[in-house]
Amino acid sequence: MYHHVKQLMYTVNVGAPDVRFGNMLLEQFGGANGELAAAMQYTIQGWNCVDDVARRDLLMDIGTEELSHLEVVGALIRMHLKPLKTNREAAEADPLVTIAGGGGLNLFNSMGNPWTADYLKITGELDVDLRNNIAAEARAKIVYERLIDHTDDPGTIDTLQFLMTREITHMKSFTAALESLEKNPFSIGRLRPTPGLVDQYFNGSTGKGSEGETDMRGPWQSNYGLAPVESQVVGGQGLDIEAVNGKLPGEDRGKQDSARTTSTAPEKSELVGQVG
Ligand code: MN
Ligand code: MN
Repeated sequence: MYHHVKQLMYTVNVGAPDVRFGNMLLEQFGGANGELAAAMQYTIQGWNCVDDVARRDLLMDIGTEELSHLEVVGALIRMHLKPLKTNREAAEADPLVTIAGGGGLNLFNSMGNPWTADYLKITGELDVDLRNNIAAEARAKIVYERLIDHTDDPGTIDTLQFLMTREITHMKSFTAALESLEKNPFSIGRLRPTPGLVDQYFNGSTGKGSEGETDMRGPWQSNYGLAPVESQVVGGQGLDIEAVNGKLPGEDRGKQDSARTTSTAPEKSELVGQVG
């Protein structure tokens, strides 16, 4: 059940309307990393999350706050777009919003592309979705930061600072929720990856480039049990693809670990063709 309260989550003040900036702000209204996308992503994940009522509550709390953010950024945009209604020069900054939308809000991004459910990352696997959400919050944060860099209006900056700050708050909550599942960070779903192959870092870019690029070494090749493997193209062994052809001795394919289920997918006993 939803209930609307006639009060913004943050009071919006705009000194001088700036229609071009209002147009840029639409990115956070109907854009890929905007508030509607966040609200829909978390809320629908929450509706799917029937077997973890604690984290379902988290998803509904934050999904609902994002809807309140949509209302706040919408109020901010509406104030900046106001001159579109009456001023021809201003109207030229956004003919689509002016002519088709009457200078008001609509679900477009800053380039006039319509909002799409393709923006949403919903997998039905709670730990995977929490990672999606951490990434979504990071993207929203950086977009707000860039918007702040392009306005001098103090009231506008205050509103954007509020919205930007809340994204880091959400990032903390989603991170804590993921950590509290106490899953091995590389344990995704139920099926175990193939031993050996899973630890091979493929050195797929080698040689020297004209801009000084060279073959580099880093922890991404050696941490978490990883080891580099050279391509056959440069005389190396290549990936150990033989390992996936049939079961290895001792391999328990189909069973990953005893970590708690975090999925809205069927129980293991319900899976067709399940092992053991
Ligand atoms: Mn938000
Ligand atoms: Mn957020």
